[in-house]
Amino acid sequence: MRYLSGMLFAAMVPTVAVAQPSPRPPKLVIAISVDQYSADLFDEYRPRLTGGLARLATGTAYRNGYQAMSATETCPGHSTILTGALPSRSGIIANSWFDLSQTRSDKGVYCAEDERVAGSSSSKYTVSPVHLKVPTLGELMKAANPASRSVAVAGKDRAAVMMSGQRPDQRWYWDGKKYATDLAGVATPVSVGAANQAVAALIAAPGLPLSPPADCAASARSVPLGDGSVSVGGGRLERAAGDARGFRATPAFDGMTLALAARLIGEMQLGKGAATDIIAIGLSATDYVGHKFGTGGGEMCLQLHSLDRDLGDFLRLLDRQGLDYAVMLIADHGGEDVPERLRLNGVSAAARTRPGLTPAAIGKAIGAKLGLAGPVLIGEGAHGDVYLDTALKPADRRRAEQAALAAYRADSQVEAVFTKAELARTPLPTATPDRWSLAERARASFDAQRSGDLVVLLKRNITPIPDPTKGYVATHGSAWDYDRRIPLLFWRPGARPNDRPDAVGTVDIMPTLAAMLGLAIDASKIDGRCLVSAAVATCPTR
Ligand SMILES: [Zn+2]
Repeated sequence: MRYLSGMLFAAMVPTVAVAQPSPRPPKLVIAISVDQYSADLFDEYRPRLTGGLARLATGTAYRNGYQAMSATETCPGHSTILTGALPSRSGIIANSWFDLSQTRSDKGVYCAEDERVAGSSSSKYTVSPVHLKVPTLGELMKAANPASRSVAVAGKDRAAVMMSGQRPDQRWYWDGKKYATDLAGVATPVSVGAANQAVAALIAAPGLPLSPPADCAASARSVPLGDGSVSVGGGRLERAAGDARGFRATPAFDGMTLALAARLIGEMQLGKGAATDIIAIGLSATDYVGHKFGTGGGEMCLQLHSLDRDLGDFLRLLDRQGLDYAVMLIADHGGEDVPERLRLNGVSAAARTRPGLTPAAIGKAIGAKLGLAGPVLIGEGAHGDVYLDTALKPADRRRAEQAALAAYRADSQVEAVFTKAELARTPLPTATPDRWSLAERARASFDAQRSGDLVVLLKRNITPIPDPTKGYVATHGSAWDYDRRIPLLFWRPGARPNDRPDAVGTVDIMPTLAAMLGLAIDASKIDGRCLVSAAVATCPTR
């Protein structure tokens, strides 16, 4: 019955004229990233949505897009979208990494900070694009024609920074209290003040429980987590008055970001200038909802319906302004549900990591066994980059590395561990990303200067959150396809439906949009390739 009613709703969506896409470049490119929007979620909800997501899915819809690398985190994910570059080229290997050679006491580095600025730390950082080694599409557009404007608006600083890169015209992101910018010497648009007033008033009032659409009822079942002291599934995304942190895990967060983007498009007259403009929009609420409640409950159902509606309103606003625009919608990575609910749904391997699976605990055990002082291993969490303490003497370092390899390989929750040397000699894969080996996925995340001495990958369905009662309950970041596979949608008014099953990479977006704009790019400086599809009629020959 649910399937039938979904089809009926889908049939009621106002259809757009079926026509060949315009060969002319659009006047405004809108690049939207939905944080933690997996292809699994796209597939599950696609028959049931009727708003903006549904509209965008009527263009060229790649159901099997890939954030192809192993470290499926927000900063690397956003860095691939408009650069055409994998993290191995862009240098954005993770949300944060370690630089043990830096002089400040905090050896962590946040991906979108400038650690050379006095007072910046990996947690209280100075926002900057300095780590991004490659140009964004907006930079290339402005280099080709200085009349082009490049703007970014996002719920997260790293989303805005990685999609716009160096010297955009405007860049705004939520800093926990307001939309802020890292750009100095740029006049603040009136829109930003208005948006910040509106959001302050919204947060000051309580966020009332949302009424779930009928199709959310099946997923709105309460599931106890961990020791049973918390549960998820039946939440209705309410929020106490003044709870700015809670605001991020509600649909209103994306609504506000979209409203600010719409205001900026109007105020700056984007899409109405002498050259094509670009605005990158990072929508972060889906990610916070996923981390706080998991992806399989009533909360995510509410979030996706709300996002669908808000995106529909946003697109209608653009239509009313008579803009000639093209939309690309993507995710920075996918995500996985809480293991407790996955097990109820038959995924018997789903589990949380044991508390001792950390570089600190494993390093301490190795130190005791080999008689080594210091932490031995440095890293965050159960997987990803692990660094050997640089204070170790060369011989001790080799012993520690061997011991760490043995410890990780013996662990029943670890799938693979690669050394820096192994990854350095692994060629970058040339096959489509659905066919990459685990070593190739890790190679795509590897940067010789920034990566760890070891890279640890967990087994499938192992969630690296040992205790769900202390914060986040679910996450992403693994090398598995629930985190890698995402939808990639291209849409223009008049777009012809083109539903595509072929596996493509997010690094293919930039050269495809560049072809749409008639912008020449150096194929040897990117990892992606232009996609011939309804999005672009032809790609440049190499
Ligand atoms: Zn993310």
